Amino acid sequence: MSTNATTEIVPGWETVIGLEVHAELATATKLFSGAPNRFGGEPNTNIDPVSLGLPGSLPVLNEKAVELAIRVGLALHCRVQRSVFSRKNYFYPDMPKDFQISQYDLPINGEGWLELADGRRVGIERAHLEEDTGKSTHVGGGGRIHEADYSLVDYNRAGVPLIEIVGAPDLRSPEDARAYVSELRSILVAIGASDGKMEEGSMRVDCNVSVRALGETELGTRCEIKNINSLRSLGRAIVYEARRQVDLVTSGGRVEQQTRHWDEAEGSTHKLRSKEEAYDYRYFPEPDLVPVEPSDEWIESIRAALPMLPRERRRRLADEAKIETAAAALTVERGMDDLAVEAIGLGADPVRVLVHLENNLADGIGSLSAGPFAALIAMEVDGNLTSTQTKTVLAVLVADGGNPAEVATELGFEAMEAEELEVIVDSLIAEHPQDWLAFTSGDDKERKKKAGFFVGQIMKVTGGQADGRAVNELLARRADA
Ligand code: ADP
Ligand code: MG
Repeated sequence: MSTNATTEIVPGWETVIGLEVHAELATATKLFSGAPNRFGGEPNTNIDPVSLGLPGSLPVLNEKAVELAIRVGLALHCRVQRSVFSRKNYFYPDMPKDFQISQYDLPINGEGWLELADGRRVGIERAHLEEDTGKSTHVGGGGRIHEADYSLVDYNRAGVPLIEIVGAPDLRSPEDARAYVSELRSILVAIGASDGKMEEGSMRVDCNVSVRALGETELGTRCEIKNINSLRSLGRAIVYEARRQVDLVTSGGRVEQQTRHWDEAEGSTHKLRSKEEAYDYRYFPEPDLVPVEPSDEWIESIRAALPMLPRERRRRLADEAKIETAAAALTVERGMDDLAVEAIGLGADPVRVLVHLENNLADGIGSLSAGPFAALIAMEVDGNLTSTQTKTVLAVLVADGGNPAEVATELGFEAMEAEELEVIVDSLIAEHPQDWLAFTSGDDKERKKKAGFFVGQIMKVTGGQADGRAVNELLARRADA
């Protein structure tokens, strides 16, 4: 991926970022049992022997979770492959088996890529399936386990299917990282794989950060930051961590590979532990599950059913509106691109369509549909409505729907007759001979200023009914006469 030298957090230093995103898959039940996969609910109600890891219980793989994982892989242009579940051994109270079933050397999705709104591609290293853990609440001692008075544990989340998407270290700034997570979230939501809600923990980001002197090609030692709950925290954590590491290196120290915790209130990261290595987990193939070997036919039928992805939607709108793909990003992000494409298809001016969607419809399109939207824009472009009147009519169409011409009439927005406007303009010219002289003989700046003066006067006289563009044209015609 190309990098941009203006994004240095500390001058002369490059920040290298690679993200691991965990997303809960939107299945009805858990990854290895029929217990409900549901957010919220009384603690320890969405559970069964498998979620609790009771002796003698056995995992049965959820087909829907595999299908959703394959959707993710296809949407991220990954190689979808034969995969094997492994046991990742470690202890934590919210994981009663003392191991997590994950995928290790044979993940379901191999390398792929994701394209940011500005067209840059970020590598995906893998996207594998694993089960979520339960959730502990440490009471007392600031919510950290080692200072807590006691801990509560809720196994509702234990066994919820996760897809862990491991991104390549291709990101170079907080903006890149946020753009990557936003794009990934849009994709996951578009394909129905996850609801992507960071605030409910259904999408969680671990952020790996390292620094290196500009021009250096070797990667520096990374730290992995956990507990990032929003895009804002993600950016703040990266800035803090990059500065911390540069300070360390420039004062003669070196970065130790660590897992660190982001403290939102303090705005800083703290060491949790020295980074564990894969061998610490004693991975071995899960003996209670067979390898997953999706057939080509199944993969292809999943591919065929994928909806249009954000990247394709940006392309489509950009082509329709004849703009850069990056300029289509906001409209697509807001899910308003179908309306835009349809209105443009009906002949609406693309620039006006996008201006209205971006500036006047930020809160949603409500009852607005393409036909009336295109008709309204035609009235605006033809000078039958001023831009202020257009906005007012638009608000009514959003709230109640309807026909723009009728709405305009009801609101008393009669188009001003051309002759009526001429009479007014001529009388104003007569009333302000000095200003008119300045308009006709002044330089560009003066001309602009005086045009503003006349338009203002005309708006005052007409109570805002006149069309600014028509007035300007009329002034120019009179001046040339
Ligand atoms: P682990 O199991 O140690 O978390 P993974 O392979 O799952 O390792 O994830 C490694 C993550 O760290 C990837 O997202 C990758 O992009 C990122 N990464 C690797 N090396 C660096 C580095 N030097 N600087 C920043 N990020 C890195
Ligand atoms: Mg990892």
